[in-house]
Amino acid sequence: MKPKRLNLVVPCFNEEAVLPETIARLLALLDDLTARGLVRADSAMTLVDDGSHDDTWDIIEAAKVRDARVCGIRLSANRGHQHALLAGLLNAPGDLLVSLDADLQDDLGAIPRMIEAHQRGAEIVYGVRARREHDSLFKRYSAWSYYWLLRKLGVDVVADHADFRLMGRQAVEALGGFTEVNLFLRGIVPLLGFRSEVVTYERRPRLAGETKYPLSKMIALAANGVFSFSTVPLQWITVLGFVVALGSVGAGFWALAVRLFTARALPGWASTVIPMYFLGSVQLLAIGIIGGYVSRVYAETKRRPRFIIEKTI
Ligand code: UDP
Ligand code: MG
Repeated sequence: MKPKRLNLVVPCFNEEAVLPETIARLLALLDDLTARGLVRADSAMTLVDDGSHDDTWDIIEAAKVRDARVCGIRLSANRGHQHALLAGLLNAPGDLLVSLDADLQDDLGAIPRMIEAHQRGAEIVYGVRARREHDSLFKRYSAWSYYWLLRKLGVDVVADHADFRLMGRQAVEALGGFTEVNLFLRGIVPLLGFRSEVVTYERRPRLAGETKYPLSKMIALAANGVFSFSTVPLQWITVLGFVVALGSVGAGFWALAVRLFTARALPGWASTVIPMYFLGSVQLLAIGIIGGYVSRVYAETKRRPRFIIEKTI
């Protein structure tokens, strides 16, 4: 099979501590892949500077002078990992784009296997963490429950896959059709369809520098995963409304029975408490109905592509 042109897409935010080493290792990887005939000699890397305020951009410029395979894109301000990655994916040339983190937590050894999977016909190859032993207990547990919740909400995500993946040109073009601003790429990519494969790898500790994903950014990303892909929480309101309505009708009959058949009835209790529950349920139902419309408005405003053509003959 003829080798294709690879482009490694790396978002970088204040990565001066790790970037020189990362660039050196990625260039060595490109040399190796070219020598093995897996990729074309004009394969490259695209480093996206996500509005860093350290020496990240200077390091990229200096590396470009030394080796033309280093390309840089600089965003005008910090837009966050997902947007930086998207900017790289939509602007990097090449037939195969592999996205990975600047801190080399993703195993470079998995990339040849991804390319082989592509040669076998997979348009998208997901890097999946085999083990999480370098992650804290909190991170492991929260990630597990988060993926569980997403699946319950009907969001199609690949478990233990972050943004280490290979995409063919066709998949990248299709990704360009998704115009939403609340980005959660690992939710969009499975929506593209196409044949996909999974390659497992072991996630390493960060090579140098500190995490650029504080808890606040992690929560914002997790919220995008729920709210950008699922309207199930809106349906829960309706269900809750029904349950409370049924309960309050039941309680009404119970109060009536107590009044008619026993001497224990408290004057004023039923007429105060039951309408309170009942009105609460009416409000929940009303919000649920509004939710039904909101969820549809939301789907329309996304202007996602309604279909993606893989082949025409
Ligand atoms: N990153 C970015 N913009 C941001 C935050 C992070 O481009 O606002 C990049 C960062 O440089 C790295 C990747 O996203 O290449 C993942 O970040 P990090 O390794 O800090 O996250 P963690 O692995 O700790 O979750
Ligand atoms: Mg990292």
